[in-house]
Amino acid sequence: MFARASPSDDVAHEDARVRAAPRGGQGQGQGQGSGPLSGSPSPHAAPPPRALTRFCAHLTKPACRAARGAAEACDGVHFKEVLFPHTQASAGQCHFLQDCRFQHSCRFVHWSLDHDARTFPPDPPPFEFSPEAALRAPAPLRAIPDAQWISCDVRAFDLRLLGSFGVVLLDPPWPIGIDLPYDTMSDREMRDLAIGSLQTDGYVFLWVTGRAMELGRDCLRAWGYRRVAELAWVKVNQLQSVIRTGRTGHWLNHSKEHLLIGAKGHPPPRAPGQRPDCDVLVSEVRESSRKPDEVLGVAERLSPGTRKLELFARQHNVGWPGWIAVGNQLENDRIVDEALAKRIDEAYPERRGRRV
Ligand SMILES: [Zn+2]
Ligand SMILES: [Zn+2]
Repeated sequence: MFARASPSDDVAHEDARVRAAPRGGQGQGQGQGSGPLSGSPSPHAAPPPRALTRFCAHLTKPACRAARGAAEACDGVHFKEVLFPHTQASAGQCHFLQDCRFQHSCRFVHWSLDHDARTFPPDPPPFEFSPEAALRAPAPLRAIPDAQWISCDVRAFDLRLLGSFGVVLLDPPWPIGIDLPYDTMSDREMRDLAIGSLQTDGYVFLWVTGRAMELGRDCLRAWGYRRVAELAWVKVNQLQSVIRTGRTGHWLNHSKEHLLIGAKGHPPPRAPGQRPDCDVLVSEVRESSRKPDEVLGVAERLSPGTRKLELFARQHNVGWPGWIAVGNQLENDRIVDEALAKRIDEAYPERRGRRV
């Protein structure tokens, strides 16, 4: 099941054991396998995509064919070299791989997946909306299947209009003492957010990094939560190796990120028979600061069928059923819940024109 992923030549992949799943798929060490994602397949449905796909130990199809002595490569996942005019193949492979910001000039070798739909099924969604779970949720927390979003400054918007949530997820623009390509918030602004007004009984999921690991704990207390868990996201690159050559970390290189999980009151229970998720998540990095979608599945299994809110959301975060995304980088508003629309229209009549 495990394979070596490193091309024989080079860098930090010599002990790279590959977990055998496409990005975002199930089977990423989360210990799941029951709950909203599974269930009995319909006898009329097409066979489900394989949740596990093996990465070929030979890395490329030509190497695989040569090793097998066959005309066809195996049905595992292979990579192919991306060779630009400026690539020097003898220089070895780029440490940053697909995350390299300088591919237009970087002389090291980069890779892309070499696959077709047969060998590499699309990622399954991190969760599926369950109308039955929503019906079991307490009425004020009951989710609707539509995705909703609001484009606004989280600091200025009256969050109390949004109602109650089973899970509130935040990936804040923490002031962590380095230049970032977006506006950050002060410590005081973070502590003063009215997060506590969004939940009576529920969970907060808070991404923290650097000095925000302490500040985030302060915020949880200030907002009225007790910390009950902490999930570590271990970042792997395209070849499924732990990233050891990142761009952050002074004393140690940062190869993981942390998600604090706080609870308040008495959150509704997990679905009967649903096992807890693992607090280690292994998943590929994507765009800068984008977090893995698997966390949405963790939220759904912890708090099934409830309304969920993401603050500081960006455009790639919108569109999940049951979720409301709020952030100043979103393009417009989509509000389907009539009671919510009415509250917002009364408080901010000028916002009507933004809705799609
Ligand atoms: Zn192969
Ligand atoms: Zn590069």
